[in-house]
Amino acid sequence: MYDQMDQNKMTVELFCELVRHDAPSLHEGEIAAWLKKWLRAELGLELEEDETANKIGGESGNLVCRIPGELPGPSKLFSIHLDTVEPCRNKQVVIDNGMIKSDGKTILGADDMAGAAAILTALWQIRKMGTPHSDMELLFTVAEELHLQGSRHINPGWLKSEIAYVLDTGGAPGLAVNSAPGHIDFNFKIRGKAAHAGIAPEQGISAINTAASAIAAMELGRLSSGVTANVGRIEGGSVTNIVAEHCEFTAECRAHSIELLMAQADNMRSCVESACQKSGAVLEVERKRSYLPFKTAEDSISAVLFRHACNNLGLNPVFAQGGGGSDLNHLVQLGMEGIVLAVGMENVHSCDESIKIEHLHQLTSLVRELMTIQRIV
Ligand SMILES: [Zn+2]
Repeated sequence: MYDQMDQNKMTVELFCELVRHDAPSLHEGEIAAWLKKWLRAELGLELEEDETANKIGGESGNLVCRIPGELPGPSKLFSIHLDTVEPCRNKQVVIDNGMIKSDGKTILGADDMAGAAAILTALWQIRKMGTPHSDMELLFTVAEELHLQGSRHINPGWLKSEIAYVLDTGGAPGLAVNSAPGHIDFNFKIRGKAAHAGIAPEQGISAINTAASAIAAMELGRLSSGVTANVGRIEGGSVTNIVAEHCEFTAECRAHSIELLMAQADNMRSCVESACQKSGAVLEVERKRSYLPFKTAEDSISAVLFRHACNNLGLNPVFAQGGGGSDLNHLVQLGMEGIVLAVGMENVHSCDESIKIEHLHQLTSLVRELMTIQRIV
């Protein structure tokens, strides 16, 4: 079916096939079925599904394909997420001047199908040519775009690998994210007391004023410590002649260390608590830790192998700090060390999303190199 010698052509063909499937978060059933069929038909490999579908109300759980190899050294995990953000239905691929795009009505899905196309092509090529490779696990997660919900539900012990390569960030292949922030989400509900705004305002407690003082007291934006914090949505009150009884707002913070993350979250919460105490309003807080931060040393095994693989291919290896979470945040909690690889996708989460064919090819070569490179002592 595929031309054994033409890795480049195969990656583009597979990419176009993969993005043809609609896969919004929680609706990954179709793409999961296609993957199962493809791996079985082309390589005689099976996918194992975990229990996550039931836990998050999705069509598919996380999927893993375990492939024993001939090379000594640590088992390597290669991971992508199956879901995409909307609008993603009925995607039409346009190839123009070395660039792959959508027709402008939907996202393209290079996030994260560029990684999938590279992994499948690299695997197909090394298996068909009999190239020795490491023990590997291919991980396909679901609902990544919903605050990493899929990978959050992976049970300890389900994955056996020691190192992880998550193919899921922008930038040209050769770039790797080796540190990413943790993330905490808040929903604050403030209940004051309604009163006529003209006749008896002193009998009321304004939930809106309380929220305003709380938010004004918070440190938001990018702080000197590198922490970021934001209020995302606010709503409350009813009509102008009533002192607002209810006000609700959401907020988040991110930080590259657990200590800074917890300190910022505690501070944001105490700003709201103080404002409520002062006004007499009642507070209800939902605080959710989406994921914890991680930092992988540049001399860790995953990073060293990556650097060697890049050098072998003439790519310039660069390590960078990420601004958001990825499935790796959860994989690190499961005991793995790893990095997030840039896949070449551009303008993600927009209808202008694109990827250069050259980057897709470089990524495939990089994955192939990582699958077959031996541990360097
Ligand atoms: Zn992604």
